[in-house]
Amino acid sequence: MLDPEVETRPWAEQLALDDSSYRAQLAYLFDRSAFYRQKLTSAGFSSAAVAGGLADLAELPLTEKQEIRATCTPENPIGAHLCVPPTEIARIYSTSGTTGAPSYIPLTADDLDDWVAGSARSYAASGVAAGQRIVSTYNAGPFVAGAALAAFDRIGLCHIPVGTGNTDRLVQAVERLRPEAVVLTPSYAAHLVEWAAERDLDLRASSVERVLVAGEPGGGEPAFRASLEAGWGARVTEAMGIGDIGVSLWGECEEQDGMHLGARGFVHADVIDPETGEALELEDGAAGELVLTHLRHRAAPLLRFRTRDHVQVRTSPCRCGRTGPRVRCIGRTDDMLIVRGVNVFPSAVREVVSGFAPQVSGHVVVKPRAPGVKQEPPLPVNVELARGGTDDPLLAQAIRERIRDVLVVQTRVELVPWGSLRRSEYKSRLVER
Ligand SMILES: [Zn+2]
Repeated sequence: MLDPEVETRPWAEQLALDDSSYRAQLAYLFDRSAFYRQKLTSAGFSSAAVAGGLADLAELPLTEKQEIRATCTPENPIGAHLCVPPTEIARIYSTSGTTGAPSYIPLTADDLDDWVAGSARSYAASGVAAGQRIVSTYNAGPFVAGAALAAFDRIGLCHIPVGTGNTDRLVQAVERLRPEAVVLTPSYAAHLVEWAAERDLDLRASSVERVLVAGEPGGGEPAFRASLEAGWGARVTEAMGIGDIGVSLWGECEEQDGMHLGARGFVHADVIDPETGEALELEDGAAGELVLTHLRHRAAPLLRFRTRDHVQVRTSPCRCGRTGPRVRCIGRTDDMLIVRGVNVFPSAVREVVSGFAPQVSGHVVVKPRAPGVKQEPPLPVNVELARGGTDDPLLAQAIRERIRDVLVVQTRVELVPWGSLRRSEYKSRLVER
């Protein structure tokens, strides 16, 4: 454990510390943030004292990414939530701008230090330790992943960056430099298993003992994880963050039962019903959209920020000794479909289908027929066969029935030949319209 005193602190004590950080953060926002002063005042909270403490957080309005973007101007391209003068900003990351122009994420030197500290705890939870070697595959460039790479230095790892899209370089680094760990997206980890099999390379014989996955949901889905672990002969753990709040905020330990909040003390987590916005109790088994609040951010703190990540909460004690709630990400609410009233995540469909390995390759694509979220059954799903697999109507039927039993949704399963669905060296697209 990187920071045992913090990571094993009784959760009630953590919440008490967080409450005082949060009250100070609120006062800071009223003082410095044009965005939140206006937003909170118009919601009936005229001062930090009126807004109260963490126990009253659920009464404050949620923050959507779009609201912040709408305040960007040529004079202030960062947005009205910026709280510091330009001289105090030490780093500006960008988000990838999947929904338009990139948005900018400013950090002071202290903010950056908190990001790296939280990320280091999250990645260290996987079991990687000082003195070991890790191969990374992120082209950090303008993106927040750069701070995650700094976390490897903080842990004391020997970091071997190979970047994205150069599988030969990656495999050579693994063979010649013998790292104990690699870090990559789950899609790329799966792709490498196939890539190696085609070349009669055995990843299981490599030096890699730990595969750290992040960047998209999937690493925590049991059947998908099992297929990665079988292919790599290594333990797979996942990490998760969100650019606007912090990189790799969460990281899974060796118990593989949900991600711990590595950024505890810096960030507070809540869960809401994504449909109604109503706050849910953070109790064992709760499921909903993750909402995050900065506790001691300086450059541009956010309150109750909607992450669009749909998570399941675990509060049972973890054998590793880390305290606090854990989460597993089931999917992005943006990818969610509603089929006759039932919420369906494409990653959950993939998870059910993965249970049919070795008859299937594990690649799936959901092909909604109607535009938008609401769909009429049956939902079309293309399932790729394993190499050499044949189109078997009984297999398609068995998959359809299992999806119906587990996810309570009617599908139309079409088996497609091995190699016909697109592979990704970064993130997979599980929905095709
Ligand atoms: Zn644990």
